[in-house]
Amino acid sequence: MSGRLAVIGLGPGDPRYLTAEAADALAEADALYGYGPYLDRIPVRKGQSRHPSDNREEAVRAGEALRRAAHGGRVAVVSGGDPGVFAMAAAICEQIETGPDAWRALDVVVVPGITAMLAVAARIGAPLGHDFCALSLSDNLKPWPLIERRLDAAAAAGFVIALYNPMSRTRPWQFGNAIDRLRHHLPPGTPVIFGRAVGRPDERVELTTLGAAGAPVDMATLVIVGTRDTRVIERPGRSPLVYTPRAAAEVSA
Ligand code: SAH
Repeated sequence: MSGRLAVIGLGPGDPRYLTAEAADALAEADALYGYGPYLDRIPVRKGQSRHPSDNREEAVRAGEALRRAAHGGRVAVVSGGDPGVFAMAAAICEQIETGPDAWRALDVVVVPGITAMLAVAARIGAPLGHDFCALSLSDNLKPWPLIERRLDAAAAAGFVIALYNPMSRTRPWQFGNAIDRLRHHLPPGTPVIFGRAVGRPDERVELTTLGAAGAPVDMATLVIVGTRDTRVIERPGRSPLVYTPRAAAEVSA
């Protein structure tokens, strides 16, 4: 019997952001693999085993899940947000590409989820209303000079930039360095949004500027840096709307 492996996006935290497809795929699984806090979000079902692991053990987790599926299991691997955005779907593909032939015969399904940058953007208006890119600031799997090069290119080309993984205990200086770098390309008044734990009870969304940005960030924060075109609409008695217009002129140097 050939097994099945579903890589499932749970969304940013609010259970209402879990898609119906993801809920079905979770219900069909006989074994769940993922980072412990993500597994904790899933209601316990009888007969379903749970295999929590640390968030830095993605390759090992992917291998274990694939081995179980190859033995005929119905396996679900979960990610926060979307599984294809800095998450488990790519880790699974890496293992399939280099693993035994049997893993290529598996029924593999990727179930999309709402990624953090979309949830944060929706809270404040439409900052991703025109061309944008997403960058992980983690230099665990890529060298820091490459991140600097991508930040320079993205800012110079006029992309709104969503920054994932801005900081962790083992990466304390990278975020400050990235913001300093962006200040060489963009005016101090450029809107910057800090979205922390969006969709969870301790959610906080803050609007600041590139000149003032220094807010403490952590692993639960997603940062959106606007462009020269990104606008803030102040409103009486309501929080401002931030948006990037749908039309853009030539990038000014
Ligand atoms: N697959 C995930 C991203 C994993 S990388 C997704 O699609 O959202 C982990 C990073 O995602 C965090 O460091 C943070 O930058 C961001 N993130 C994940 N969940 C978040 C949330 N609820 N609120 C704000 N940022 C979040």
